[in-house]
Amino acid sequence: MAILVVGSVAYDGIETPAGKVDRCLGGAATYFSLAASFFTEVRVIAVVGEDFSAADESVLTSRGIDTAGIEHAAGKSFFWRGKYENVNEAITLDTQLNVFAGFSPKLPEQYSDSEFLFLANIDPVLQAQVRAQMPKVKLVCGDTMNYWIQSQRGALENVLRGLDVLIINDGEAKMLADENNLVRAASKILELGPKTLIVKHGEFGATAFFGDGSFASSGARHGHISLPFRAPALPLAEVVDPTGAGDSFAGGFFGYLASQPELTPASFRNAMFYGGVLGSFAVERFGTERLQQLTREEIDARFNLFRQLTHLDAA
Ligand code: AMP
Repeated sequence: MAILVVGSVAYDGIETPAGKVDRCLGGAATYFSLAASFFTEVRVIAVVGEDFSAADESVLTSRGIDTAGIEHAAGKSFFWRGKYENVNEAITLDTQLNVFAGFSPKLPEQYSDSEFLFLANIDPVLQAQVRAQMPKVKLVCGDTMNYWIQSQRGALENVLRGLDVLIINDGEAKMLADENNLVRAASKILELGPKTLIVKHGEFGATAFFGDGSFASSGARHGHISLPFRAPALPLAEVVDPTGAGDSFAGGFFGYLASQPELTPASFRNAMFYGGVLGSFAVERFGTERLQQLTREEIDARFNLFRQLTHLDAA
């Protein structure tokens, strides 16, 4: 089952306690596509500038990712610069939309049968334009960040209404809901439209909250809400570069889900574990380096570690 993804394909400048890189391949759609490509066919919609190198495009194509939907425009590629004082929070130092500022996404004819749509982090106006061109899609999942929550609130709420799954991090969830308690924030966000909400907690894993018509596994409830599901993250001795961990989580999660014959609560829970696995690999090297070298065997071996990490013998 093919996934169509729209989102940033970019160059990043990154500073972490482990070192500094002035410019490397990045972007939400880039990390997402690389992670999802281990599970299923991936097609990308984005725009890049004249500075985008053939070598960087081949990072995607060499993993079998279809880049026919990446438009090459006059001007410079999206550029983001950030630093980390702790591994769970990026501090944005610079965001240059460049060619994304005037972008109007057009779907190549051969993309129209994609059954899974991922609206990776980018202007929600662009996310909505792609969504509108995919009326028959089976499952729509989306991401966003503080930059868009603050600058494009109305457009973002429009996107949220059409989502099956929203994946955001702790801080973004609290900002979006204007609420400091995560459970209350989740309830408010589910009222905005997404059927399921996944909140990422950086090095501490991720939690899914379920609304009506969602992937909730049973009728179990805690208080007045459906019982959430929590997936772990692997405790790592060194995080070299957290950039892209969230997008890689989303790619592992959605890629696995799209590869399954049926969308069930059980496949949803496995998908959350695969998300954690891909996120844990992404942070081991700067930029997309680790994802470029990864193998499916390594992914499955780590998935088994994740299972053992949380296994409980029957009482
Ligand atoms: P994350 O997975 O959250 O660490 O996402 C990191 C990626 O998001 C980087 O490679 C950036 O290029 C990209 N990014 C940063 N800011 C934005 C933004 N405002 N819109 C879209 N993508 C962004």
